[in-house]
Amino acid sequence: MKTPICLSPCSGGNAEDPSADDPYIDFTKASYDFEVTQILDKIEQIQTQKNQTGDFSPILVGLQFPEGLKKHAVELSFLIENITGASVLISADPCFGACDLDAALISKTDVMFHFGHAQLEHTDLEKKVCFIETRSKVDVNPAILSALALLPEKKIGLVTTVQHVHQLENVKSILEDAGKTVVIARGDSRTPYPGQVLGCNFSAARPSKGDCDVYLFIGSGRFHPIGVALSSKKRVVCADPFFSEAFELDFRKFLMQRSAVIGNSMDAETFGIIVSTKNGQCREKLAQRLKEKANAHGKQAVILRMDLVTPDQMLNFPVGAFVNTACPRLAIDDSGRYPVPVLTPQEFEIVLGERDWEDLILDEILEGERE
Ligand code: SF4
Repeated sequence: MKTPICLSPCSGGNAEDPSADDPYIDFTKASYDFEVTQILDKIEQIQTQKNQTGDFSPILVGLQFPEGLKKHAVELSFLIENITGASVLISADPCFGACDLDAALISKTDVMFHFGHAQLEHTDLEKKVCFIETRSKVDVNPAILSALALLPEKKIGLVTTVQHVHQLENVKSILEDAGKTVVIARGDSRTPYPGQVLGCNFSAARPSKGDCDVYLFIGSGRFHPIGVALSSKKRVVCADPFFSEAFELDFRKFLMQRSAVIGNSMDAETFGIIVSTKNGQCREKLAQRLKEKANAHGKQAVILRMDLVTPDQMLNFPVGAFVNTACPRLAIDDSGRYPVPVLTPQEFEIVLGERDWEDLILDEILEGERE
């Protein structure tokens, strides 16, 4: 088996990628669908429109990939330039999700192809962007058949990341053949596909969206299923198609880690509230509300704005703890790398005494929240 790769923290898409060691791949054999034909057609269409204005210069095409797919950028760029005659510019900055579009590259190019994520928002920024979701071609059936043994309940809610949403109807049939009733609920507009969850949005897993007895998460990694479990208060079974295995989610270790982060923040008097300026993460109003909450409890708080949030950027701010309003995964995935504790907004409320520990949920960025 090849080493699994991770597309991005957003997709959580670990995959056994047959092309993982070879950047010069036949895209038709890649384990993700790069939609090369559609990309070439789109470029030809835009070039034709440009030619009709009397401008016959080659169009400029931008490409943006999450880290796990960047190895294919060079080959795809050559392919596009050779076949279409367009000029390609590749975004080399880190990319974590559709919340993190390269605005400078978009402004410079006629079209930008963003790989690995579904469209998140519908602002002016997205108008020149084509989202290539890179659906996984891996067979999910063996993992689902393994999961059945862990699912005595009757009514099952299905959730997954965008890489597998096209498999949900197939999975539903397997479960129905086994006598189950299946719920595939639609979340809010930041998750455009029924059953889709993001690392910052579990709205497809709310009881109000269609109640069920248990959730079955299809994908890899623990972050998304933990979010589903905390959001829904239901048991979660995970089916990992890349390893053809299933297991019941156990997140006691996660809760212990978060309990320690909260405990270590209790004596802090000054808080740094982190705001990312990235297009789909920026929550300035939330940061302002958190600052007001801190003040109301006799604590001090400052708002720290930045694009990319890294531990190194935090070293010189003398605060007792940070509160993260940027990508919710930052506070969780990198927690041990920061100089002081990094809380989620909900954990900050626990520190302030405004929320009970039993009501802990993962932070989410929901539809309309950034307006
Ligand atoms: S903010 Fe949401 S969409 Fe963006 S990388 Fe984080 S989890 Fe993914």
